[in-house]
Amino acid sequence: MDVLVIGAGVCGLTTGIYLAEAGLSVTIRAAAPPERTTSVAAGALWGAVRVGPPERVLGWGRTGLEVLSKLAAEPGTGVRMASGREVSRTPLEPYYWTQLLSDLRSCEPSELPAGFTHGWHYSVPLATMPVYLEYLRARFERAGGTIEVATIPSLARLAGVAPVVVNCTGTGARDLVPDPTVVPVRGQVVIAANPGIEEFFVNRDEEPPWITYMFPHGDTILLGGTNEEGAWDLDPKPFIAERIVAQAAAIDPRLRGVTILGHRVGLRPSRPEVRLESEPLGDSVLWHNYGHGGAGISLSWGCAAVIAAGILGTPGSTQPPGVTSPVS
Ligand SMILES: Cc1cc2nc3c(=O)[nH]c(=O)nc-3n(C[C@H](O)[C@H](O)[C@H](O)COP(=O)(O)OP(=O)(O)OC[C@H]3O[C@@H](n4cnc5c(N)ncnc54)[C@H](O)[C@@H]3O)c2cc1C
Repeated sequence: MDVLVIGAGVCGLTTGIYLAEAGLSVTIRAAAPPERTTSVAAGALWGAVRVGPPERVLGWGRTGLEVLSKLAAEPGTGVRMASGREVSRTPLEPYYWTQLLSDLRSCEPSELPAGFTHGWHYSVPLATMPVYLEYLRARFERAGGTIEVATIPSLARLAGVAPVVVNCTGTGARDLVPDPTVVPVRGQVVIAANPGIEEFFVNRDEEPPWITYMFPHGDTILLGGTNEEGAWDLDPKPFIAERIVAQAAAIDPRLRGVTILGHRVGLRPSRPEVRLESEPLGDSVLWHNYGHGGAGISLSWGCAAVIAAGILGTPGSTQPPGVTSPVS
């Protein structure tokens, strides 16, 4: 084994794919398989909320935007390009990372729901996470990678197990590293039958821990949600689900009486900054790749590219096909 990746969420899988497709022998070891990670609960729209630092996020996000846009053109990946709006009842600055988008524009008054006065319209990749994670898992295994389900109790014990170890443990890094700056930000969402909504929608006005958003995924629609700092509880709470649906239906009447199909809860791995750096681990090298907050789907390819460049020493050759921007 050349590389041991810890974690089978979106960060572990994309890192594993980069390295396995470059010809390395890669094993992913994870306490939970992809379908039981935080990653499967995500919306998952390209963007960079609750993550830093901004200058590095722009570089990772640019790579993510390019790779995900390319995947959106391929059948079976679970990714598509989606248009939609972020709206407010007060003047609204676009997020800094929307500078990477080519079609960002102000909403026309006719595009705003009743009561809203400002908004931005744009198009970005949107991933249906259960499908996207399955695509990533299959692609990793096709490249020769293997996935083992096992908990790693200590990083120190991994010295010498493989020349390179990559730590993609999300909130698990809090205990494993240990890193007390990693804090869970609990997100609960509702999956409902889609009554015909095609565009995504985000209301930027709500007070934490609430945020109202709607991400359509074909026959289903994902309704959010919450940002609960420091909460570890993975059980969906009925009163939260009821409020999510009520808030969404108040904005879009097509959601009144909607059929509920399921609930998902994930713990965003929040940290003041993403930790993407290497350090010695005995005779091995340990790369850290965690702390992606509310943006792990969007930044995972960019962060994986940095690690691949660090391990292989050839940044140009580590770009996935069709990606031309530099990594940072
Ligand atoms: C409701 C919600 C909505 C979101 N929406 C978006 C969005 O629209 N766009 C976006 O980009 N991001 C979004 N996010 C954020 C995104 O989901 C996360 O940033 C991302 O999933 C983090 O991925 P990860 O691979 O680092 O961690 P995880 O998916 O949590 O995976 C961690 C892996 O590490 C393993 N692990 C942990 N500790 C150990 C250990 N000791 N030993 C072995 N294995 C271990 C786990 O079992 C798991 O396999 C959202 C998150 C939530 C909850």
